Amino acid sequence: MHKTFIALAASLLASPTFADTLIDHANGIQADVQSQVEHFSGLLVSDDGKVIRLLRDREPRPHAATVIDAGGRTLLPGMIDGHGHVMELGRDALQLDLVGTRSLAELQQRLRDYAAAHPDMKWIQGAGWNQELWPAKKFPTAADLDAVVPDRPVVLERVDGHALVANSAAMRAAGVTSQTQAPAGGEIIDGVFVDNAKHLINRAIPAPTQADMDQAFAKAQQILLGFGVTGVGSMSTSLDDWNTFRRSGEAGTLNVRLMVYLLGLDPLKTIPQPTPWLYNDRLRAIGVKFFADGALGSRGAWLKQPYSDAPNSTGNRLHSDAELRSLEDSAAAHGFQLATHAIGDAANAQVISTYEWLNGRYGTSRRWRIEHAQIVDCADLPRIGRAHIIASMQPTHQTSDRLMAEKRMGLDRLKCAYAWQSMLKTGAKLAFGTDFPVESPNPFPGLSAGISRQDMNGQPPGGWFPAERLSLGQALHAYTRGSAYAGFAEDRIGALEPGKWADFILVDRDPTKVDAQALARTQVLETWVGGKKVWSRAPSASPAERGQ
Ligand SMILES: [Zn+2]
Repeated sequence: MHKTFIALAASLLASPTFADTLIDHANGIQADVQSQVEHFSGLLVSDDGKVIRLLRDREPRPHAATVIDAGGRTLLPGMIDGHGHVMELGRDALQLDLVGTRSLAELQQRLRDYAAAHPDMKWIQGAGWNQELWPAKKFPTAADLDAVVPDRPVVLERVDGHALVANSAAMRAAGVTSQTQAPAGGEIIDGVFVDNAKHLINRAIPAPTQADMDQAFAKAQQILLGFGVTGVGSMSTSLDDWNTFRRSGEAGTLNVRLMVYLLGLDPLKTIPQPTPWLYNDRLRAIGVKFFADGALGSRGAWLKQPYSDAPNSTGNRLHSDAELRSLEDSAAAHGFQLATHAIGDAANAQVISTYEWLNGRYGTSRRWRIEHAQIVDCADLPRIGRAHIIASMQPTHQTSDRLMAEKRMGLDRLKCAYAWQSMLKTGAKLAFGTDFPVESPNPFPGLSAGISRQDMNGQPPGGWFPAERLSLGQALHAYTRGSAYAGFAEDRIGALEPGKWADFILVDRDPTKVDAQALARTQVLETWVGGKKVWSRAPSASPAERGQ
């Protein structure tokens, strides 16, 4: 009798008649497993935050304790950014923002204002400049910064994070003189430190305190949720970053689900193998991130043939084949997934070969990832699908890089560049993201570029290499199911399906009914994670827009 009573009570508690939340009258849209657009109008969510089922238009509604009327608004699964830098996003948002500066003079003016507004700051740090957007297209110099701030160290990162410019005070503090040689894989040009040379300056910057890091992470989460991003492949994560995520998890403030890729082998001394999911599937260390080359903008991408606009250079090769194999093998032997940055065609070929070799040792189910996979030699492209490699790509890099890439390489060598549709045709899995803060974490310009190969202003007309356009279903798939799969998380996130988390967003327009330029300007109204509203648009506010 006692047993029966308990069983009855338990069944009443679990019964949808007495609990659960029904989100009704929604214009629900998601990509199905075949990358087709699927429609639904209701979502039944359990009290523990998981999807019980989707409801179509004419299906009878089950009784639920709470009914939320979506009022016909468009409901999408939470977007998952396959490759972003979470702490940098928050840190940059608190630092001097140089995104969109149109000249050296504008950079200098913003630096002057920021220095005046932060008189007690010992080191001034900023990021986001891109000399390609300036009339002279020349790197800034130490002297350019000295002219504005002569007395305190100033360090300003380029938009792609692959170069920084330092003033004389920063170089003095770092012990860098005119005699200092750039390390292999790096360069020093008048106060600009490229790739491996950045370390010469960065090592002198005082480490942020725990409070600084908590503040930066809170800021990053707020920005991400405001753009409808509920999951992230957290790239290049340091131990300090990891500990910050853990503190947030312990405090119950972790809302964005993080699939963590540790930076190199060092953190493995503390985290020797992938962790289980923590904090209700909000945090997991799953992989290790390596680099094969630099970036195209700073001519650090490693190319098979010299740069069209620097005929003596093929970029920065960061590892010999044997070295890269050995690094990757060490991480793979610990059970980690691998995510390797490769931008140039030579770097991509090297990483593909490395993964082919690793498949021989570990089999083909480890989901090795190439981060960016931007410039691929057409001859190498089919090898990506054959080796079961995941292409983790960023559609807004294509629209931002297009003109620069043409200058660096010429159109002929770009036939298999940013080649999303060709990548899918090889059988490769595609995961979309932004590489924030390199680009804004806003997923909608990316979805728009994905279907149009055009920027937010519709350039170029007809789209850049338009055969690489995706359908809306394919683009949504890459931004949800694809990036979940890329993080071994497709059993819990990436789609609104029974048993998966109710991570979803309400937006102000229907992506199936607007053109690409309007899609890019989609605004998120509400963001829900695990069946709970964690962000909503304040009546006239907008999330911090960066980079677009
Ligand atoms: Zn990155």
